[in-house]
Amino acid sequence: MRRREFIAAIGTAALAAIPAHRLSGASSKQHIASLSFDDGFRKSFLRIAEIYEKFSFSACFNIIASAHLPGNQVRDDYMKQELFGDFGVWNELQDRGHEIMPHGYRHAHLASLPLAEAKDLILRSLEVFAKELRGFDAKKAVFNFPYNQSSPELEEWLPSVVMAYRTKGEILNPVPGPNTVKVTTGGWGPDNAEKDVDESVEKLLAQPTGWMVYNLHGLDEEGWGPIRPSYLEKLLGRLRERDSVRILPTGRALMQAKSGRFAIG
Ligand SMILES: [Zn+2]
Repeated sequence: MRRREFIAAIGTAALAAIPAHRLSGASSKQHIASLSFDDGFRKSFLRIAEIYEKFSFSACFNIIASAHLPGNQVRDDYMKQELFGDFGVWNELQDRGHEIMPHGYRHAHLASLPLAEAKDLILRSLEVFAKELRGFDAKKAVFNFPYNQSSPELEEWLPSVVMAYRTKGEILNPVPGPNTVKVTTGGWGPDNAEKDVDESVEKLLAQPTGWMVYNLHGLDEEGWGPIRPSYLEKLLGRLRERDSVRILPTGRALMQAKSGRFAIG
């Protein structure tokens, strides 16, 4: 018996040891839910982390790399300078098990810029992360486009720089595989997003398999399309009751896909 056949035989034996109902249950429904929180609101992100920690889940935070720097060029009605956190907070949240990923250098509309300038801003965001976030590795990072606005040229180039990118598209993705580099997302705003989140969750659970990547920002009054802390806690509690659902940050879902965690249907 050659090595590969031997391993295959071992695999079959291991499979035979699992009761049939466990196997059918595991393969029939598979849902991943990622709430992808953007921009870097200190107060909201600390509260979101606390809520996730009640369930031993990891939250998914995407940070504008220069937002903590004096004189930065981050400008948007929904992002007042005094609301941003800094890498002291982001390192603390990472230490507590949450995922911290880049969301641009200065939150520019990258697709509207000359390609070289857009690439430069992406690389600068990764440089800040490498300098400020402990253990950061771009090859394990998800680049989250500001405004979810990408271009075909940037999408073609990015997999040479980062593990994956998140851009505008369907909120319900297929369950990721080992080679997934493009993750699509959507959201609701500027007012409260809860009803739209609920509808996305219902659509996800109505499918046999899928990966919901819902783009959120802050809590209460902070950020575009906020939700309430009480809503987030109820939502996570509700999803935890479902055997088919895994609550994961986007990067961790992709890393688990690379290690063969998910059955691709
Ligand atoms: Zn943003």
